[in-house]
Amino acid sequence: MFTCAECRILACEKNDQSKKPANCPMYDVEFYRQVKNKYQEDGVLTFFQESARVEKEGYGKWPRAKEIVQFCCKMDYQKIGVAFCGGLKKEAETFVKILKENGFTATSVVCKNGGIPKEEFGLMNSDKIAPDSLETMCNPMGQALLLNREKTDFNVVIGLCVGHDSLFFKYSQAPATVLIAKDRVLAHNPAGALYCYESYYKTTFK
Ligand code: SF4
Repeated sequence: MFTCAECRILACEKNDQSKKPANCPMYDVEFYRQVKNKYQEDGVLTFFQESARVEKEGYGKWPRAKEIVQFCCKMDYQKIGVAFCGGLKKEAETFVKILKENGFTATSVVCKNGGIPKEEFGLMNSDKIAPDSLETMCNPMGQALLLNREKTDFNVVIGLCVGHDSLFFKYSQAPATVLIAKDRVLAHNPAGALYCYESYYKTTFK
């Protein structure tokens, strides 16, 4: 078991091998030899290097939307897919506008694509947000497969639900990043619950 989140030593940050705590993954020298080799696989090194350059150039200056655009420029991507939640359509429309203004081709697919009633996939009336009404399901696999068909170079997720986003990532052929992580009660700022956990939001999570 690894316990990096609770580590107080952080020997990794300065590569101080002599101070490795118990459970430190850095004891596994062979593993790191293999990981370093994996960065040499086709396309991975460039992808990693451009990510690091965006991190450096925009550090503390650029919002995430700009980091994504800059990354797409550096990678010479042409066609960007946007997989978005219908509840964040305005945000998706604005991001598509930004992409187009910056010379990209943008193709976007909403979560409700297909208009499939939730009942078709085993959900009950009681599973609906508004029971006794027609409720169509989120269709993240549809979003991924449509963007695959469009042969996007890179996909951007805007506000997909927890778990739906996981399915999107699983089926998306192009690499993908998140512009907005949905949090319906914290203005899409999920970290807010963590910042307040030791004070105002000391609540049970189960
Ligand atoms: S890699 Fe090792 S030193 Fe770094 S945080 Fe994890 S346990 Fe701590």
